[in-house]
Amino acid sequence: MADGSDKGQGFDKLRKKFEAYKEELCRIGFILPGSITKRYVRCGTPGCKCHNDPGSLHGPYYDWTRKIRGKTVTVRLKENEALLLMEWVENKKQFKKAVSKMENVTLEAVKEIRV
Ligand SMILES: [Zn+2]
Repeated sequence: MADGSDKGQGFDKLRKKFEAYKEELCRIGFILPGSITKRYVRCGTPGCKCHNDPGSLHGPYYDWTRKIRGKTVTVRLKENEALLLMEWVENKKQFKKAVSKMENVTLEAVKEIRV
């Protein structure tokens, strides 16, 4: 059969592995492109204490940076937004990991059918 169901045990194992990764994928929430950075900055005001004391830097400021049609776009975020969007960026990493594991299992399946 074209779906490989006539193949051996190794193939069944691979199929189960694949299904498990697929379920992993389904549990993942929003996936956000780009990255979130947290920064403390020195301002341009002469005499401001941030110039002498590293502990008095302004911030934290949160930026969400991503590429749109090859151009880097940065959006300033509020802290509560940033914390949420960080999770979504992390989701995207998990998503990519799961997809890459699914690809690897599929490559093993190719080996199985070509024996
Ligand atoms: Zn300052």
